[in-house]
Amino acid sequence: MSHDHSDCSEVLLRVFEYIDQEMGPDDCARVRAHLEECADCMSAYECDLLLKALVRRSCGRVPAPDTLRVSIVSSITTIHVGIEERRAVDEP
Ligand SMILES: [Zn+2]
Repeated sequence: MSHDHSDCSEVLLRVFEYIDQEMGPDDCARVRAHLEECADCMSAYECDLLLKALVRRSCGRVPAPDTLRVSIVSSITTIHVGIEERRAVDEP
């Protein structure tokens, strides 16, 4: 028996709930059963899982992406200013 494709939209909509284990046991079992028989939803699920793992890993190292960006920009500016100053001194 092939699965009902109307389940796909519900599964794709709720895949993050499934990954976060925010679903009830009944919904969770339904999604798991659907993923096992639907390659499209399974690849979407794996993609979301990978994305979530990457986000979690990068968030574990830096407090916030904005803070990191600001510190990178400010260190680039500092390096650039240092080069400019040195060049000015070297010139006759
Ligand atoms: Zn599906």
